[in-house]
Amino acid sequence: MLERQDLTAASAGLRVAEAHQVLASVQQHLLTAQVATALADQALCDSCGRPYRHKDSRTIVLRSLFGTLQLTSPRWWRCPCTGQTGTFSPLATLLSERATPELVRWEATYAAHTSYDAAAELLGQAFPLGRTLHAAAVRRHTEHVAERLDGELGDERFSFVDTCPADWAELPRPDLPLVVGIDGGYVHSSKQTSRRDGWFEVIAGRSTPTGGGPAKCFAFVQTHDRKPKRRVYEMLRGQGMADNQQVTFLTDGGEDIRDLPLYLNPQAEHLLDWFHITMRLTVLRQTAKSLPNPAGDVEDGPAWTTADQVDDELTRIRWLLWHGNTFRALQLVDSLAFDLDCFDDPGPERQQLAKRLAEFRGYIDANTARIPNYGERRRYGERRRCGEAISSATAESAVNQIISKRMVKKQQMRWTPRGAHLLLQVRTRVLNDQLADDFTRWYPTSPAREATEPIMNAA
Ligand SMILES: [Zn+2]
Repeated sequence: MLERQDLTAASAGLRVAEAHQVLASVQQHLLTAQVATALADQALCDSCGRPYRHKDSRTIVLRSLFGTLQLTSPRWWRCPCTGQTGTFSPLATLLSERATPELVRWEATYAAHTSYDAAAELLGQAFPLGRTLHAAAVRRHTEHVAERLDGELGDERFSFVDTCPADWAELPRPDLPLVVGIDGGYVHSSKQTSRRDGWFEVIAGRSTPTGGGPAKCFAFVQTHDRKPKRRVYEMLRGQGMADNQQVTFLTDGGEDIRDLPLYLNPQAEHLLDWFHITMRLTVLRQTAKSLPNPAGDVEDGPAWTTADQVDDELTRIRWLLWHGNTFRALQLVDSLAFDLDCFDDPGPERQQLAKRLAEFRGYIDANTARIPNYGERRRYGERRRCGEAISSATAESAVNQIISKRMVKKQQMRWTPRGAHLLLQVRTRVLNDQLADDFTRWYPTSPAREATEPIMNAA
């Protein structure tokens, strides 16, 4: 019974504690009735119709979002008419999983967004769980979901290109290119024994259909994952990739992911993400700002290495790279480096800039083959009224979206490669809005949905 004295905003309707009590009571009643019905349905021997003899009972625990239920699970003797001996436990067989799929799905969904500790605490506040939920239990369930998802992936193959150009010609003309950004990020290792091995790499990526539609992401820990190519392949297939479709991979030029695209799609093109060039140029410009900008000490060296003039040079270099002219861009970088080198006493700012410029030169030089004419591609894309995303810069980087927000924000968060990999499978599934469908596939009976369908149809 719920009682109220007066009506105020604070006393209006249910409070969370009351709602929890109501839900927990309903759950208890509903489940008690379900258990009684299920046991009654099985009480008689299929062959001779005689009731099974009762041996004893045990208590099993079912964990749900609306309470932790202690259920009496009887053990019955097998019927002598079948010639079998021994006992069986009908309820324990029916409820072989002792946590409801909904509970597990919500644990995984919360854990995808926040730490296991916070997920356990928030779930305890939102639902009448009937017990203290521990972070370790949330982690165990979440990792179990991830292992189930990984188990559904097909076998890894050396190459996923198994058709030939003649076949591609037969296929219908595909849609516009898919653009896939792949990036590497780092998380703290829980097995740190020295400063050097304190981190391990995680690969994150996102594919965007050029013709529109939602982007989908993927992530894996390369040292743990045995099916990275299959993983990315399935995701691209899910995005509608055809064998004759152009796929543009945008990366930061990192060695380890360089060959991944080659085996996935015969029309794969691997480009350097403009985003990564821009980021490096921004760092150079920031460094150049700290250069001394005096008019007086021209005798010390060339006057054209003032902050403003270096900035102008960097603008020119940026423009050349945007148009894919790496040859001229590298010449300008070299001459700038030469100018910085002319000082007898360059000072810490110029030395710092020279060092970063040398790193930048190495980066551009190593990736020359993957730097296209971004400007032309952008114009071409716009003429087709669906601008080919030639850079992920407009969107948040995949690493930041998928990895950093959940796994790096707190410095004390430490991971094993396995733990990080499994969490990322669930996190990407949640970000892609697919986890609910996975659970519907695994647990297809959903009476609530069946009941609403005729109403939907009538409407
Ligand atoms: Zn019998």
